[in-house]
Amino acid sequence: MYDKIVSFAKRRAFVYPSSEIYGGLSAIYDYGHYGILLKDNIKNAWWKHMVQLREDVYGLDSAVFMNPKTWVASGHVESFDDPQIDCKKCKARMRADHILEEHGIMADRETIEFVNQKLDELKEQGKLKCSACGSTELTKAKRFSLMVKSNLGSPTEALSEKNVVYLRPETCGGIYLEYKNIVATLHPKLPFGVAQAGKAFRNEIVARQFIFRTREFEQMEMQYFQKPEDMKKNYEMWKEIRWNWYLEYGIPADKIRWAKHEKLVHYASEAHDVEYNFASLGGFKEVEGIHARGNWDLTRHSKFSGVDLNFLDEETKERFIPHIMETSVGLNRLLLMFLDNAYTEEEVNGEKRTVLKIDKKLAPIKAAVFPLLKNKPELVKKAREVYEDLRQNMMTEFDDNGNIGKRYRRQDEIGTPYCITIDFDTLENDTVTLRDRDSMNQERTPVKDLKKKLLKEYGCEI
Ligand code: ATP
Repeated sequence: MYDKIVSFAKRRAFVYPSSEIYGGLSAIYDYGHYGILLKDNIKNAWWKHMVQLREDVYGLDSAVFMNPKTWVASGHVESFDDPQIDCKKCKARMRADHILEEHGIMADRETIEFVNQKLDELKEQGKLKCSACGSTELTKAKRFSLMVKSNLGSPTEALSEKNVVYLRPETCGGIYLEYKNIVATLHPKLPFGVAQAGKAFRNEIVARQFIFRTREFEQMEMQYFQKPEDMKKNYEMWKEIRWNWYLEYGIPADKIRWAKHEKLVHYASEAHDVEYNFASLGGFKEVEGIHARGNWDLTRHSKFSGVDLNFLDEETKERFIPHIMETSVGLNRLLLMFLDNAYTEEEVNGEKRTVLKIDKKLAPIKAAVFPLLKNKPELVKKAREVYEDLRQNMMTEFDDNGNIGKRYRRQDEIGTPYCITIDFDTLENDTVTLRDRDSMNQERTPVKDLKKKLLKEYGCEI
């Protein structure tokens, strides 16, 4: 299934490996025509539920570069790393915590000493092997920083500690830094949230699971600021909102589950992941994290910047640093999840049909318009008219290539919910055939009702 999804994503212009003509660049991908459309639709679906339908959440788009002190305050410079081990024989690089996990030892956020001690125990039991070649000759684990460095300012100066800036490893840092401006300009009452979607960068040790784990990716995060006593209630509320979001966009309830973090960082009071059962990756894997983080982030930024980040409660006149819970999800991971869930191969009249049964609201192309015959100018003219009208409101394709069956198959593969065919009857009575992607049923529909019907289907009635 993994190979199928990867080759399908490339063949149908969803995801291309980056820099292919130069031999590629590990764990970096580009998004093609249908890929961007799908990615934007997922992002908009997230934005709709996290911002548009909320009176208490504001949007933000902060920069990728931030003052480097940000990442000292957040603890990233000191300890945002994973334990790395290498195979001495085949030079494969592995994450030691992942190897321990395979043997039932949870080593997330553990010290390097703990990781090495557990690796030694596995070695003594003859269980420690290279996951690529099976060799038992492995190096000790060492810390591998995930921070990606860059330099700004003097182009001639080499990268040094003096001029280093980091490409943000997560988007929420920008939210903490703009918290003061948001409070001063939007005057929110507690609780309130700030949401943003944008690029993040991590120097991942191993990244060989297609777009599941990449070194450049997009996160969508929402930080919810509140009084400490409201945390439990709000945490449960957001868990429910996020769970329902997956169902709303067609992910079956039995393909997702909650995974509770047993070991928490010292400032956190609760953390859960949403895990999705990836057929392409062989099981349940994290797509989203929901974390109750206490007042740690703002306290640290207040301390390191020297700026007062207290919130003044107008009613009680109390000043305090709000507590934060966050929802944090990877957009690229979600795109893989939706492809994984929707990719279907089935047999229709003895022939194989590949169809992307993706939620209609997320489909990259909403409608495709075909003239029955390419060489009949009156059909082409009418089809062009319908196409021009629809594409004012939704992504629409015009296709007059090959026979109708082939055109249906092309649209099925990219998940287009409706195909519209203009035939000779259209010229007589102004109706078209409207063909449904999933049921493959065709019904005659008056041209005048088409747009309204489709828009209603996509949740934007006019
Ligand atoms: P993991 O354990 O998979 O490395 P994490 O626990 O470090 O992830 P968070 O820091 O909580 O992840 O990030 C929140 C979300 O961002 C993740 O649930 C995931 O969807 C996404 N994400 C994190 N790292 C990557 C990456 N390298 N590539 C793609 N998406 C990522």
